Amino acid sequence: MAITTTCYSCGSTFSLEERKRCECGEPLWVDTYLETFQPNESQQGLWRYADLLPVDSPVGISVGGGGTPLLPGENLSEYAGCNVYVKDEAEHPTGSFKDRGTAVAVTSAVERGVEWIGTVSTGNMAMSTAAHSASTALECVVLVPSDIPSERVAYISQYAPNFLQIAGDYGQLYYDSLSVGPEVGVEFINGDSPMRIEGYKTSAFEICEQFPGTPDAIVMPVSSGGHASGIWKGLVELDQMGVIDSVPRLHLVQTAAANPIAAAFQAGSDSVDKIEGGETVAYSIGNGDPPSGNRALVAASETGGSVTSVTDREILEARDRLADHGGVCAEPASATSLAGTRKLTAAGEIGSDESVALIVTGTGFKEMGESGAAIEGDVVELPDLKRGLAGLVD
Ligand SMILES: *Cc1c(COP(=O)(O)O)cnc(C)c1O
Ligand SMILES: [Zn+2]
Repeated sequence: MAITTTCYSCGSTFSLEERKRCECGEPLWVDTYLETFQPNESQQGLWRYADLLPVDSPVGISVGGGGTPLLPGENLSEYAGCNVYVKDEAEHPTGSFKDRGTAVAVTSAVERGVEWIGTVSTGNMAMSTAAHSASTALECVVLVPSDIPSERVAYISQYAPNFLQIAGDYGQLYYDSLSVGPEVGVEFINGDSPMRIEGYKTSAFEICEQFPGTPDAIVMPVSSGGHASGIWKGLVELDQMGVIDSVPRLHLVQTAAANPIAAAFQAGSDSVDKIEGGETVAYSIGNGDPPSGNRALVAASETGGSVTSVTDREILEARDRLADHGGVCAEPASATSLAGTRKLTAAGEIGSDESVALIVTGTGFKEMGESGAAIEGDVVELPDLKRGLAGLVD
């Protein structure tokens, strides 16, 4: 069956390659034909749901997408103010949930005979897209700003993609890549491309399968709105297939330095106005002009959730708490899930008896290079090991 896409907002339908976004300006997603929810246990990770995806079988490291654990968060619950479970998306080939979307998008590109793919990113999406391409016959180009920090280049360049440095408005580049890409034969799989959304929805499938019962709410960071769109699509599909009795509320969290979706939600507006984002420790979500912002807003309101924002101080405190009380090493952008949950329980938007899935979107291991962390206390000489340990244990 030919793959078609639909606009969530106006309902227009197109063939996959006909349009990258709807005529009304909103993003599209793939039409899927749902039957029963019967994960295929002979497959790994997100490929258990291949029947509900517009692709057949994984290429290259795409096989490693999905299948991440839902971790108990007992030691985090006091801080969070409710019962929490952590969906640990850090456990992916390149350390973030972006691999779910890339796995499906890259597999689809190969199945359709595409030769070049590209992406607009300086971070996790660039790493993910470059790594997946490296494991297939695809050529990959990453569009980066000319002032990209060198440590970012190091992470991406290990997978040896082609880089194109661009001067000018990086936000506009998202749109320009979608219009120019088809003319030159490069398929751009940006943050909210329809095939990425299909990959992202499998995280909702996993959460609902792994959770004891159905979560009351899912709390997650939001930037472009691609991930939130995918989670929402997944939840709606589970609801339509009768797998869950009710759709969990989606609570989306932004950094206070770039919070256009939260501002629109708080103002009761149904569209997101772009803003000039500022500096933030949560650089992976520092997007003032989210291409799927309106759709994320609808996802939050349709599910009875909300969009809020947290400060850098709250983010870093939650990042530390995730590690020293949860055993989870999260990047700052991902710690917004815990910081946001704490804020929402304090405000009464999440009840203290509710059970919530926090999505930790990416690993903090990439941050460790320049932390300057040091261990306090004396150095114990080996013959004194027993005395040193006993001193601690007392
Ligand atoms: C990309 C990213 C996000 C934001 O996801 P969107 O789909 O852009 O909303 C959040 N956390 C991390 C770690 C990311 O890499
Ligand atoms: Zn439309």
